[in-house]
Amino acid sequence: MKIRLAGYSPESVVDGPGIRFVLFAQGCEHACPGCHNPQTHDREGGDLVDLAEIFERIKKAKLIRGVTFSGGEPYLQAAPLAQLARQVRALGLGLVTYSGYTFEQLYAMAARDKNIRDLLAASDILVDGKYMAGQRDISLAFRGSANQRLIDVPRSLLAGQAVLWEELDTGDKLFA
Ligand code: SF4
Repeated sequence: MKIRLAGYSPESVVDGPGIRFVLFAQGCEHACPGCHNPQTHDREGGDLVDLAEIFERIKKAKLIRGVTFSGGEPYLQAAPLAQLARQVRALGLGLVTYSGYTFEQLYAMAARDKNIRDLLAASDILVDGKYMAGQRDISLAFRGSANQRLIDVPRSLLAGQAVLWEELDTGDKLFA
């Protein structure tokens, strides 16, 4: 299976806790004013990359504490990313996913779409919501605007509503 990527970073410290391998999915339809990655919007742009090739690169990244799917909009390519997420988790790595959709929107979409359900369920943390330039705050960890939330996905799925991620509660479990 292939995925269309805008790029990747084998060692990032700004896309979730610890050092992370980050994939930037190509394609986004949210059109947030002030988006920092407009080159990721075209669904036909970027490069088509084999999942197996990406997985090999992830396996070679020995310093990472987890993997992050950013974008673009990762949930537009939920099928290949859900498959990769399963392989990443089998390595014992945690997963952060970003989305311009809110948790509530993805939760509703997941009821109709198995791939979205699987990708969401494989995520430890979801950084959700559109980038809103009017709420830009560079002091926030892992996100650009104050409306975006760090969601504890396992707890949220159990509760059926968004539960915010608290690093002290889950850091050891996820990223030891
Ligand atoms: S969701 Fe992200 S990539 Fe898409 S337009 Fe908004 S800020 Fe840009």
